Amino acid sequence: MSTAASTSEAGRSAPKPPDPARQPSEPQETLLYERRKKIHTLWVNGKFQYLRRFTLLVLVLIFYVFPWLTWGDHPAVWFNLPERKFVLLGATFWPQEFVFLSWLLIIGAFSLFFFTVLAGRLWCGYACPQTVWTYCYAWIEHVIEGDRNQRLKLEKMPWNFTKLRKKGLKWLLWALFAFSISITFVGYFTPIRELLPKIAAFDLGSWERFWILFAAGMSYLLSAALREQVCFHMCPYARFQSVMFDRDTMIISYDEDRGEPRGARGRKVEDEGSGANLGSCVNCNLCVHVCPMGIDIRNGLQYQCIGCAACVDVCNSVMDRMGYERNLVRYSSEHEDQHEKRSGLRPRLIGYGAILLAMMIAFSWGVGTRVPLELDIIRDRNRLYRENWDGAVENVYTLKIMNREQRDRSYNISVAGVIPFEYSGKEVARVPAGTLLSLPVRLVAGPEERYDSNIPVTFILETTDEPSFKVSHESRFLSPARGGGGGR
Ligand code: SF4
Ligand code: SF4
Repeated sequence: MSTAASTSEAGRSAPKPPDPARQPSEPQETLLYERRKKIHTLWVNGKFQYLRRFTLLVLVLIFYVFPWLTWGDHPAVWFNLPERKFVLLGATFWPQEFVFLSWLLIIGAFSLFFFTVLAGRLWCGYACPQTVWTYCYAWIEHVIEGDRNQRLKLEKMPWNFTKLRKKGLKWLLWALFAFSISITFVGYFTPIRELLPKIAAFDLGSWERFWILFAAGMSYLLSAALREQVCFHMCPYARFQSVMFDRDTMIISYDEDRGEPRGARGRKVEDEGSGANLGSCVNCNLCVHVCPMGIDIRNGLQYQCIGCAACVDVCNSVMDRMGYERNLVRYSSEHEDQHEKRSGLRPRLIGYGAILLAMMIAFSWGVGTRVPLELDIIRDRNRLYRENWDGAVENVYTLKIMNREQRDRSYNISVAGVIPFEYSGKEVARVPAGTLLSLPVRLVAGPEERYDSNIPVTFILETTDEPSFKVSHESRFLSPARGGGGGR
């Protein structure tokens, strides 16, 4: 079974009418079930690659540095699964607050939609973890084995000491790098300052051991071994991103009008198209050699293209050497390709942008006004009320006080209701940072005070020091119906 490699899955509109003078490139056919050919990319420099390296470096630094940061006595970012809490920059989030996590995920999704409509696969080319880690593994390979031609030579070489030394060193560095990723990853769950001594003393728990080995293995497999295959066959985003594109979305494209008919030539052909009636493309194939996906952008937009812009940078360097105008391969929109005006503000972009902005405002407001204290009231389930010898009725409650701050706090406890209650229990509760305190208390009401068998009562907690805030929680005070009697 075969298919034309030039088939675009990215939803471009109808092509321009063919120019009879042009000699279109031959369609290339690839087998769907052919054996994977390892891609040896050429190292390329250029403004987009510098930007990309900067972005990747920032992301890698964030990943490695965050587990080492502390806030108070705790790591600044800590997924504390045994205690079911998540610490972020001094704030403790509990499972009840995972609505914030869902908001973050929704914001992430709409950011992806927004930037995809704006500029195509920015996420894939500049920020996706698969891209980031693959780039790091590829860089290690480049440093040890050399650039594309040296690596191709090494591949063809029979196994000898040089090949064994280079390959062995590369695999060793890859493995060390994979373990550095997995240990850092586990460091988000077990504080890394405790984790490293445990590793040194071979004193890891079974879950830590499992996740370090599993994450290292997956990192090595996905980013060092499988690389572009993950984007081709596993990533769903590559398959549906085209539905978000419109005719003004910025994509990487080849200027066919200018480039064709392509053909090799010497540098003597200084004016584009002169002499041999050729277009600007010198058919050097460098845009294919730098492509981490191994595709030829001259065949049109393909779903495999991750928008890394390596082909833009290398083609610009070729154009510079030839003395031709730059941007034969460039960021452009479908409208621009058809010499039409590109519209910056489009309904889809405005729609995604408005939702994204609204979600970010709501999220900031939610986090900003969040009270780092939670009060829950649990009534005694065994006995609804107890009637004393003098006719007074008492109810027993358990106050669950959750201090979500990263410092110990004391709270005044008070009760408000439509009748005066006698409160029996601690009036000031001290709760250590990030913990939950269970406090049994009793309320008593005299017979003359009770007008109903089910009276609302409000428990109020107020901090004793600054910054001050208070929370309240309503419960019920139960007693025998008037005319009834007997405790339960
Ligand atoms: S790098 Fe530019 S000139 Fe060279 S083959 Fe690709 S498009 Fe043509
Ligand atoms: S075609 Fe160009 S932009 Fe797309 S993945 Fe290949 S090198 Fe990157």
